Amino acid sequence: MAHAQHTGKTHRVTLIGGDGIGPEVARATRKVVDATGVRIEWDEMEAGGEVMKRGLATGVPKATIDSITATRCVLKGPLETPVGYGEKSANVTLRKMFELYGNIRPCKDLPGVPGPFAGRKIDLVVVRENVEDLYAGIEHMQTPGVAQCLKIITRKGCEKIVRLGFELARAEGRRKVHVATKANIMKMTEGLLKKTAEDIAPSYADIAHEHIIIDNCAHQLVRYPEQFDVIVTTNMNGDIISDLTSGLTGGLGLAPSANVGNECVMFEAVHGSAPTIAGKDIANPTAMILSAVMMLRHLGEFAAAATVENAIYVTLEEGRVLTIDIAGDAEPASTTRFTEAIIHNFGRKSSKMEARAYKPINLPHVPTTPVLVEAKARRTIGADVFVEFAGGPDELGRKLEKLAAGSPAKLKMISNRGTQVYPSQGGITDCVDQYRCRFLSASPDGVMADPGLIDLLQRVAAAGLRWMHIEKLEELDGKPGYTKAQGEE
Ligand code: NAP
Repeated sequence: MAHAQHTGKTHRVTLIGGDGIGPEVARATRKVVDATGVRIEWDEMEAGGEVMKRGLATGVPKATIDSITATRCVLKGPLETPVGYGEKSANVTLRKMFELYGNIRPCKDLPGVPGPFAGRKIDLVVVRENVEDLYAGIEHMQTPGVAQCLKIITRKGCEKIVRLGFELARAEGRRKVHVATKANIMKMTEGLLKKTAEDIAPSYADIAHEHIIIDNCAHQLVRYPEQFDVIVTTNMNGDIISDLTSGLTGGLGLAPSANVGNECVMFEAVHGSAPTIAGKDIANPTAMILSAVMMLRHLGEFAAAATVENAIYVTLEEGRVLTIDIAGDAEPASTTRFTEAIIHNFGRKSSKMEARAYKPINLPHVPTTPVLVEAKARRTIGADVFVEFAGGPDELGRKLEKLAAGSPAKLKMISNRGTQVYPSQGGITDCVDQYRCRFLSASPDGVMADPGLIDLLQRVAAAGLRWMHIEKLEELDGKPGYTKAQGEE
């Protein structure tokens, strides 16, 4: 065994073993990292299911938060959310608490690992926005039978994730960034990521940029995955796509990840606590060790990272010592033996694959002020009032036109789940009891002031209609800050 070269610096890292197989794979990972000779002061901390069961609903003790605040670098095993304890996942709490906005998930065709795409030389990275989108978790029941979840996408969040994608491409010597969105349907939210990428891409002239619709991206990933280099995408899309990509190459036991923020970085395997195989010394520690490889690069320990990565490739390629999930018909090795084999292979290189030559990631500096873009001119020209109504759209339309008569607002149209149903545009629609009623200003200047809106709401309520929320219709720099309904003129 050859020791890796290292910088000689001492790094502090918070190590969280977590639940299930977590402590076993974390122990194995620490052993491999320590064997490189890189100096790390491990701050061993707790989080997850066991903590919840002891009565702390968040699953993240104060001591753990304090440790991360001090070290700014975490290597974490999987955390369980046990049914009946705590409502929120401790993982999500950690990601949100330290604003870990970017989730980086590499997917690589590894030597000696069987699978439907083995040998196709897949080598891509999914860069997923990690804190916004539907995962903001803002949900409301609009009526007893209609639920709503808000999809929040911000220019600031898009700037961070797009810049991270391009910077990662540069650091890893990659050539192309695909930005995958559903902007064809969600023009304002998903469209904001597309537009932000188009604004930012010219400042990365050395990296090619292409927009791809997310569903086509899924299709292309399954047919021609080798065409992708870096995929930047929103939270929900990224959640699904990155699980798909880990399935392309070897599965969960081999998939690493990093959660990146301006202040702090957290590295973890993609897999969960795998309770059925916990405590048996059979789990594959590769995913967590590869996560530690990403951590070593973050710490500037590039030589040690390459040593560990190459040793993993040799171990997998030789196929003599493999854990049960990838051993196939061969006699499986324990987690402990597999870990020892990796350390034993330090200094060797696989005949098929070599670790990439990485440069440090130049983390994007996006201002931390809440407002990132301001419109030069804006005005409110109307409002969408969401109303509960058990009857049909014509009945509701007549009621609303009557109640708005003489007020500062006039009814433009009514939609049901996004499709205009009043005035009817034809077609056969099936309505639910939540209607979006679009009112525009009736005044000559086209502006709807707050007193006019309040008057409108009072008239709606006085007519015995229950409204659950309103959205102002804003015009920003002369352009509508809202989308039209399906079928709306
Ligand atoms: P999982 O723990 O990833 O396990 C699913 C299956 O994948 C396991 O049963 C096992 O398959 C295989 N597997 C996963 N990791 C492996 C490894 N290192 N080596 C060998 N095989 C491995 O998914 P889950 O059962 O859906 O989730 C269990 C718990 O983990 C849940 O409480 C969930 O919330 C939590 N979770 C946490 C994280 C995180 O902390 N980031 C992520 C995902 C899930 P076989 O049974 O075929 O051996």
